Amino acid sequence: MVGGGIVGLAVAYFLARAGVGVTLLERGALGREASWAAAGYLSFQGSSNKPGPRLELTRASFEMYEGWVREIGELTPADTGFWRCGLLEIALSGAEAAEAQARAAWQRKAGYAVEWLDAAAVRSREPGLGAELPVHGALLFPGVAQVRPPRMLRALAEATRRRGVQIREQAPVAGIVREGDRVTGVVLAGGETIAAPVVVNAAGSWASQLAPEMAVMPVKPMKGTVVLLEVATPPTRELLVSERGSIYPRTDNKVAVGATVEDVGYDKEVRLGSVRTLVNQALAVLPELTDARVAGSWAGLRPYSHDNLPYLGPVPGLRGAYAATGHYRSGILLAPITGVLLTEMILQKPPTLPLEPLAVARAARSEG
Ligand SMILES: Cc1cc2nc3c(=O)[nH]c(=O)nc-3n(C[C@H](O)[C@H](O)[C@H](O)COP(=O)(O)OP(=O)(O)OC[C@H]3O[C@@H](n4cnc5c(N)ncnc54)[C@H](O)[C@@H]3O)c2cc1C
Repeated sequence: MVGGGIVGLAVAYFLARAGVGVTLLERGALGREASWAAAGYLSFQGSSNKPGPRLELTRASFEMYEGWVREIGELTPADTGFWRCGLLEIALSGAEAAEAQARAAWQRKAGYAVEWLDAAAVRSREPGLGAELPVHGALLFPGVAQVRPPRMLRALAEATRRRGVQIREQAPVAGIVREGDRVTGVVLAGGETIAAPVVVNAAGSWASQLAPEMAVMPVKPMKGTVVLLEVATPPTRELLVSERGSIYPRTDNKVAVGATVEDVGYDKEVRLGSVRTLVNQALAVLPELTDARVAGSWAGLRPYSHDNLPYLGPVPGLRGAYAATGHYRSGILLAPITGVLLTEMILQKPPTLPLEPLAVARAARSEG
């Protein structure tokens, strides 16, 4: 396994649970890249999910999450921060309200929990909302949950070790070792070779660089900046999401505001312009946050995929190599289904979901 973010850890976890011996190699410290930086909310009901493969994938993972967290809890006392907090998605125009109501209708028909609230109901539920905010109503998703990514990663890493996975940090993989077109292992930057009949590439925003054959996946970094605030009393219970910014209340009087989407290459520095954008958004949604203490800010690199689906499966031209990357904005949510699907593929078991839409080479095929 190459990469110790949530995706590499999840695939290692499920492989080990199925009895496969796994060594996980992480270039730096475990879980310190995109996975650590994430807001950590878990939802499959947003506007980007129409009926189709993405909805099926995100819904399957969402439905697995609570059970997975419970299973992790049986292996380690470490807390994941899992919390079913609910989410209020606020419509700020007539067009957004119409789309939201249409979505509520088909989602209710499909049996998903969702409720439409008119503007007056939204304002009485969330009295702190900015007076200038053009609230046209909101969708309430009571089942939406969140984890605290740094805690989730600590707990998952511990559970993965307990399952018998060997985890090596400060172990940068420099390349794939092969005989003909078959993988036989990897070589570390220091020259050490590690033999393995199967190599899974879960290297996040760096995945396309691992071997020439991996370049068929156009994964690139998409920066996200978050600001963390501390408040005397929580300004809202639910997650508040709108086109003017998203606010993620935590259980310990912390509130995360974010995240930006910045196409700026591998820059992970927190820039003043990004912080200004987030601060303006937070104050427009909840003006009382003006008294909040700034507790911190950070940025991470989401592994972007060209069609908002991850690349999961065998790497063409390199037998024994698999990819598990490109989870873009949903890698925390998609971790368990990714672990299950990769395990099924590697053990040649029937897949839980159709794999074709997730195929590694689909970007090249769609270009014709
Ligand atoms: C600001 C922000 C907010 C987000 N919010 C959410 C959210 O609310 N919900 C959600 O589901 N998702 C969210 N995401 C997306 C989510 O964080 C990512 O999709 C997910 O973390 C990707 O996980 P990963 O393991 O593929 O990548 P990473 O966490 O980046 O891990 C990849 C790992 O591979 C290692 N690596 C790279 N190259 C090598 C090599 N050659 N050898 C060894 N190791 C290597 C890296 O060091 C890294 O640790 C957010 C992301 C950001 C940045």
